[in-house]
Amino acid sequence: MFLTVLGCSGSIGGPTSPASGYLVEVEGVAPVVIDMGPGVLGALQRYIAPEDATILLSHLHADHCLDVPGLLVLRRYGPEAERAVRVPLIGPSGTAYRIGVASAEEPGAIDDLSDTFEVSSWDDTPDVEMRGDDGVVGLRVRADRVDHPPESYGMRLTSESGRVLVYSGDTAYCDSLVHLAAGAHVFLCEASWTHEEGRPPGIHMSGAEAGRTARLAGVGRLVLTHIPPWTDREAVRAEAAAEFDGEVLLAEPDLRLEV
Ligand SMILES: [Zn+2]
Ligand SMILES: [Zn+2]
Repeated sequence: MFLTVLGCSGSIGGPTSPASGYLVEVEGVAPVVIDMGPGVLGALQRYIAPEDATILLSHLHADHCLDVPGLLVLRRYGPEAERAVRVPLIGPSGTAYRIGVASAEEPGAIDDLSDTFEVSSWDDTPDVEMRGDDGVVGLRVRADRVDHPPESYGMRLTSESGRVLVYSGDTAYCDSLVHLAAGAHVFLCEASWTHEEGRPPGIHMSGAEAGRTARLAGVGRLVLTHIPPWTDREAVRAEAAAEFDGEVLLAEPDLRLEV
């Protein structure tokens, strides 16, 4: 299983990175894109034909989903539109409605995504199997609710060979993420600010909290992401490294890791 960072800037796109988006490739199954914030669709084109991707959304904040309408345009009108089949788009409840509103042409209208996407919600199906053309399961995804203002999900991706990637889903510190991340080989974890007084509760983690989560979950490598352009990246990394003894990496566009 390979993880490629498409965008890692927190809350908004930054001068050197799109907002949140990650490509996961496992042999034998369709490529997976986790989150699709502004700028991610452009970066994705450096790696795969975007039409082929299964899309998993952690939540519907703009910085995690607003390139999906662009992908819809590509799938509906692009050069491969004729032979494009519907691909899975899995997100929180209300994904079809919210993306449909973003893609609509008139005030009050809702674009019907069902010609291009097969939309489902984590709320209904928190466990998903991804199969190759041969019908064999190549990747399993488990989503679990985390602590963030809208309905948000962390994800645990397990390859057929047993490798595990966990994505935090833009959460504040929470026990459900510690459980979800248990023993992950790579833990892709948002850490949006330093551990200072006056941080608002229930929104994001500091570097220290990301490091503590990694330690309690016993993960292999910690990859810090979703750091906004106005936050000191090295300070966030130093906080995490003070809590977690393992390798701590800062996500950056085009970082590619074997999980
Ligand atoms: Zn975010
Ligand atoms: Zn968010």
